[in-house]
Amino acid sequence: MSSASKAPSNAKLDDTPSDLNIPDNYVTHTLKTQKALPPITWQNWYKEINWLSFTILTVTPLIGIVGALFTPLRWETFLFAVFYYYLTGLGITAGYHRLWAHRSYNASLPLQYLLAMLGAGAVEGSIKWWSRGHRAHHRYTDTDLDPYNAHKGFLYSHIGWMLFKPRRKPGVADVSDLAKNPVIRWQHRNYLSLILIMGFIIPTVVPWLLWGDARGGYVYAGVLRLCFVHHSTFCVNSLAHWLGETPFDDKHTPRDHVITALVTIGEGYHNFHHQFPMDYRNAIKWYQYDPTKWFIWVCQQFGLASHLKVFPDNEVRKGQLTMQLKKLRETQEKLTWPSDSNDLPIISWDSFQEQAQKRPLILIAGFIHDVSDFTDEHPGGAHLIVKMIGKDATTAFFGGVYDHSNAAHNLLAMKRVGILHGGFQPGVDEKAVPPSQRLRIARYSELSPYNSSTAYSDSEGLLG
Ligand SMILES: [Zn+2]
Ligand SMILES: [Zn+2]
Repeated sequence: MSSASKAPSNAKLDDTPSDLNIPDNYVTHTLKTQKALPPITWQNWYKEINWLSFTILTVTPLIGIVGALFTPLRWETFLFAVFYYYLTGLGITAGYHRLWAHRSYNASLPLQYLLAMLGAGAVEGSIKWWSRGHRAHHRYTDTDLDPYNAHKGFLYSHIGWMLFKPRRKPGVADVSDLAKNPVIRWQHRNYLSLILIMGFIIPTVVPWLLWGDARGGYVYAGVLRLCFVHHSTFCVNSLAHWLGETPFDDKHTPRDHVITALVTIGEGYHNFHHQFPMDYRNAIKWYQYDPTKWFIWVCQQFGLASHLKVFPDNEVRKGQLTMQLKKLRETQEKLTWPSDSNDLPIISWDSFQEQAQKRPLILIAGFIHDVSDFTDEHPGGAHLIVKMIGKDATTAFFGGVYDHSNAAHNLLAMKRVGILHGGFQPGVDEKAVPPSQRLRIARYSELSPYNSSTAYSDSEGLLG
């Protein structure tokens, strides 16, 4: 970092991180000052087409469909096409994505060359271009500096962002580490020939040499397989930001779903991935579908990959706990709770006696309860309640006559109408706190010692 900051201004562009000298308010500043192109409408769309990617993304499926109509599918070719789909898909998921965009592990040179070649066979741009966009996606998720901003709709994040000229430049993201990598430079230099060899020649030649099906190889393992790899990996930007749960964080759109994992070679645990992008895994449980993770792990066993990064489990579980507490808090807030002791009137013994003449009031654990709607419902019989009107039934309630259930205690607290003067000390007598309130989800502001109105929850703490 220090050597980079001392770099002279005429240093080679590649060596200086592109985000080294950006202002502290880069995001808001750029969004405010950098003019975006006008939105795409029915009037202007044909002028805004990005012809290179538009052609690749429309002509490929057309050739594939027409070719399939006139080319019989042999089972050997079908199996090879599926196999080659996984190989070239892994070039993107294990190579472009987890190795180069996120540096989530180290790969030996042979593995790097293999992934660079397989990734070229997926025809999604060079490693450098792809990773630059993806790093911006992670850094500016859900903003206009995110090249595939999910807030612009499913179709836009899936394919629209490539069909049309981008409305803005993606936010700055440093790829100087990639610019130095000889494998990435080699792929960049030979990208066109690599596309032809890996995308079309190999999938044609292999079925031709092995079982004499060059045409089927071209159509199914070449062209149609490419369409599947395209839309499979595009789903990471669309489906993974749209379908599923947010078990680690719900600040942004990324989500976890097994269907997304199935169609993306394991990139479907995208909520986890956006929280812990440098983790070589997407799925953290052994039974979740993440072949990309398995592939990297197997490479490690063969000495081809090393330094597989794993985020500390303790921190991963904190994220999970936060989301679980959030859900519990919602449940807690939907329930009706007893009146807060601060809101109840303080009643003297004499006043309690006097009022108990007019309505059925019973004292238990310092609280005065109005049991008029419960006397007849009492499972032990109305007589046990009637006999306690105007009296302190604490001992009888807590085991003297019957050791009441937690449910009974919770229900009793709902009948509170006052506090006996001198009969209740908050936080001292646990009997005064119904079981359902001894462990509660409290917000940070509610736990603050400066917030005196919540002294009650202070004594409880976040999780008791
Ligand atoms: Zn994403
Ligand atoms: Zn990523």
